[in-house]
Amino acid sequence: MGETRVLILGGGAVGTMVANKLARDLRTDIARGKVSVTVLDKSPTAVNQAGFTFVPFGYYTEEDLTRPRAMLLSPRVRAFIGPEGEVVRVDLANREVTVKSGRKFTYDYLLISTGCALDPSAVPGLKNDFSSFYTSIEDAKRLGEKIKTMSGGKIVVMTPKMPIACPGAPGKFTVILDDYLRGVKQNREDFDITFLWPVPNIGPPAYNENITENFKARGIRDVREFQLERVDEERKEVVSKDGERYKYDLLVTIPPHRGVKALKDSGITDGDGWVPSDKYTLQYRGPAGNYDEVFVAGDAGPKEIPKMGVTSHFQAFVVGENILRDIRGVGDMVLYRGHMGCPYVGGAPTPASRGAATLAVWKYGVPLGPFKPARLGWRVYRMYYYIFWDSTLKALM
Ligand SMILES: Cc1cc2nc3c(=O)[nH]c(=O)nc-3n(C[C@H](O)[C@H](O)[C@H](O)COP(=O)(O)OP(=O)(O)OC[C@H]3O[C@@H](n4cnc5c(N)ncnc54)[C@H](O)[C@@H]3O)c2cc1C
Repeated sequence: MGETRVLILGGGAVGTMVANKLARDLRTDIARGKVSVTVLDKSPTAVNQAGFTFVPFGYYTEEDLTRPRAMLLSPRVRAFIGPEGEVVRVDLANREVTVKSGRKFTYDYLLISTGCALDPSAVPGLKNDFSSFYTSIEDAKRLGEKIKTMSGGKIVVMTPKMPIACPGAPGKFTVILDDYLRGVKQNREDFDITFLWPVPNIGPPAYNENITENFKARGIRDVREFQLERVDEERKEVVSKDGERYKYDLLVTIPPHRGVKALKDSGITDGDGWVPSDKYTLQYRGPAGNYDEVFVAGDAGPKEIPKMGVTSHFQAFVVGENILRDIRGVGDMVLYRGHMGCPYVGGAPTPASRGAATLAVWKYGVPLGPFKPARLGWRVYRMYYYIFWDSTLKALM
């Protein structure tokens, strides 16, 4: 029998975890040439985007949040990175993936984990006033500089559209911003902060309750079910569909998200580029048909499953385990029970405040219970960004 080929599209959080788990669990088969694990990724630098929220306030540096991608993958994994790894076409019927250089890869098992793409140009009227911590470390640093040099004024944090990666992050950013202005810059009274959010709740009810109370206590103007019409840069206003206008001196935008273009162009996604899958098995169930050998995990997945690192983590273990079991021909499938979660930040440590955080986790049919952020939670959360590289991505926990 020939080699069993596992092909992974996207070596981000999910792709790296699955590749490293399989490379460890199947090391004998890999050493005997019976199995291969291949990762394709377009970029040589791995970025932990979950740390972007903290960058404007100086908690993490570029060195903390980036690594050479090749360094994160087990040497048992075959990695094609850059144009050799940039996926341009996926043909599920013929089990064939084409990359930018023209090379074609075939597979027995495929994992689609290409994350999401952010599109600031999809915000009508937004051009020169674009600032964000969502798009890159450089953008997050630039935003930090603007906040640092502002002596006062109106800051608007705007999310025009769901789904986004980590729906908790805009709220976390706003809480940290508030503490930064109060406790570090010590001129909060010179600022108005407005939070514009497109749906009624931020996360599940217990999460929403906490953040709503938190915003209220801080005097943050909290606008829900906000529907953006356009940004009026001339008047420095955000205009909603119902005619409300929100003045800004600094506009922080969370750009609309969509799936990766190459997947959409391949006809395997919904209209926004998200890849449909069975919500329990994570096997592909989309416009191209049903494919049991194709798995979808992380942010690339269906729009109904919230896009969070915690979700990605649980899904990576489910997919890795199911590919392993199928290759070995033993046991039933492990089901993804919808475990997902989002770190909640109650406050950041400053000379005037204590850091408080917790990891809120829930799953299908089991709602998040009441919770309280704690000081230890903040410390663990801060530490996690260092553990991420050497423990999470190595699929050790
Ligand atoms: C500002 C912000 C804050 C966040 N905060 C948190 C948090 O506090 N907690 C939390 O749990 N989660 C958080 N997240 C979410 C978390 O970062 C994501 O859910 C997680 O990274 C998703 O992993 P993934 O593997 O699906 O995608 P990614 O890690 O984005 O990996 C996708 C990979 O696919 C590659 N790729 C894309 N297109 C192609 C192509 N055509 N060909 C080849 N390769 C391609 C990319 O280069 C990338 O390496 C946050 C996200 C953001 C943006």
